[in-house]
Amino acid sequence: MARSDRKATIKLLIIPLMISIVVTAIATVSFYYYELDNRKALKRTALAQSAITLSEKLDQSFTDVNFALIESAQGGQPCQSNHTGLSQQLLLKLPHISELRYTDANNQTLCNNWQQFSPSLSSHTPLLHKGLNFFGPHLIEDRAEPIYQLFRRHQDGGQVQAVLHRVWLKNQVKFFHSPLGFMAIINSDSGVPVVINGKYSMPLNADPTFPINESVSFEGMLDNGRMHYTFIQPLTTQPTLSVAISQDLDSLYAGIYGFNASWIGTAGAGVTLLFLLCFQLQRKLNDPIRQLRSAIRRREFFNLYQPLVRSSDHRIIGCEVLMRWHHPFKGVLPPMTFIPLAERSELIKEMTLQQIDTVIRELAPVLRLTPTFKVSVNICAAHINDPAVIDAIIARAPKLKGLVLEITEHQVVEHSSPKIQQALHRLRDAGIKISMDDFGTGYCGLSYLSSLPIDVLKADRSFVAALGTDSINADVLKTILQLAQKLGMEAIAEGVEKHEQAKMLSQMGFDVQQGWLHGYPVSAFEFVEQYLQQRPEQRKPLPIAKPVTESVTPA
Ligand code: C2E
Ligand code: CA
Ligand code: CA
Repeated sequence: MARSDRKATIKLLIIPLMISIVVTAIATVSFYYYELDNRKALKRTALAQSAITLSEKLDQSFTDVNFALIESAQGGQPCQSNHTGLSQQLLLKLPHISELRYTDANNQTLCNNWQQFSPSLSSHTPLLHKGLNFFGPHLIEDRAEPIYQLFRRHQDGGQVQAVLHRVWLKNQVKFFHSPLGFMAIINSDSGVPVVINGKYSMPLNADPTFPINESVSFEGMLDNGRMHYTFIQPLTTQPTLSVAISQDLDSLYAGIYGFNASWIGTAGAGVTLLFLLCFQLQRKLNDPIRQLRSAIRRREFFNLYQPLVRSSDHRIIGCEVLMRWHHPFKGVLPPMTFIPLAERSELIKEMTLQQIDTVIRELAPVLRLTPTFKVSVNICAAHINDPAVIDAIIARAPKLKGLVLEITEHQVVEHSSPKIQQALHRLRDAGIKISMDDFGTGYCGLSYLSSLPIDVLKADRSFVAALGTDSINADVLKTILQLAQKLGMEAIAEGVEKHEQAKMLSQMGFDVQQGWLHGYPVSAFEFVEQYLQQRPEQRKPLPIAKPVTESVTPA
């Protein structure tokens, strides 16, 4: 494989690979962060759910107590024997209640479900509002440890109080284990914990404004110096109490980072898929035939015009049209970089027809002055072999009366067939001249040459270059000239770079010359200017074709 081919192949593989890796990496990172947010949200939701579950459980238990308190309040005179029986029955249904107590309107505890208190005990339980109330922890005379109470107003103005099992209440928050977090039943007004599991920390920079009426969640620094996620859910049955749960972010989010095997597999598949897509796309974009096609569509090919001059006075009597490609990325490209492929793919046919139309438009000022102005257009076997192209060229001939078609000797020899002969005759019949380009390099036999309708022999520039040297090529020009004269053809010498060459060719009898000495291939605008300059009297009134390209000096 040639070095340039290897380079192109590597480029064809490397670029898609890089694109697919970069795109997959960006997609993976974006998806990772999105996924990370989801995973964090899931952890927070799971934590909040623990608090919600506990609040629902507490609500259920408190509802049971509330109904029991209502039943007791409606069950007759408290502390009477029949009422005590009712109290004991109710207590049996409430495993989380240790005792039912009754106070009078003066807040004196008269009895509980086991005994009368004589004298009565003072109760400091305030009646906060109608309905179910909570109070605690607080100390009472007949208990060594602080108690927690749920209570309601009794018919006679006193209270019926349910004393919660302290252990039961504490156990409610026991199931939560986090070394730096806590779960608590808190006072909804102040945030102060009633019972807690873990170490309580107050929020520092994130502030859930107490009192709390509805569920709140926040992420922020607590006074333990760590970032926490905290969720607080007020109880429905007892809004003065809320369940709070809080966990430090490090332990809450531990284990959510990183990729798993399926991710790696998906990323790998992504890279492969993208690579294949990019590879196909790049191959398509890099396909030279496709590029040529789009260049035709975008009219990126343009013409340069090189003068053909008369040997005697060096005046311009015609031109050769030479194609260039204004490539969108590579700049102006010379013909050998695209003509061979255009010929092989036969796209050259469309390109030449487009070229002839451009010539007619661009050389209009010259053609108006000299309608038979010689214009040499290069063609190849693909054109000659296609009758539709011959028709299309013939259709354009009336606008280009001096049209000469140049076809190389090589092409004529390689594709010699009756079809070519017929096509050349058709062109000749339409008044189009045929020039045999690069003549002397293609071994065209004399009899074959004389059978073809050829008007011009254009001697290859290698023979002109050999002029004045000992090379055998120097003598070929004389032979070409004699041949042309014998067959009644015109002889043109191309590649004339030096004065001595021009002089010798003129002396030899070449009437027409072409070469850098007489003029480089230039843009239409410059060429028309050059031509008009040698006809000063015609110059002013003529409209000049708008320049379509810049001239390009041959390398
Ligand atoms: P060609 O038909 O033999 O065209 C003449 C080439 O010789 C041109 O090269 C021209 O720039 C160059 N040339 C002119 N004077 C001198 C000189 O004094 N010294 C030297 N060393 N070279 C000179 P260019 O334009 O690069 O074209 C190269 C070839 O590409 C042409 O050879 C022709 O075979 C092909 N070509 C150019 N334009 C077209 C086109 O429109 N259609 C087709 N089918 N072939 C084209
Ligand atoms: Ca030519
Ligand atoms: Ca030539």
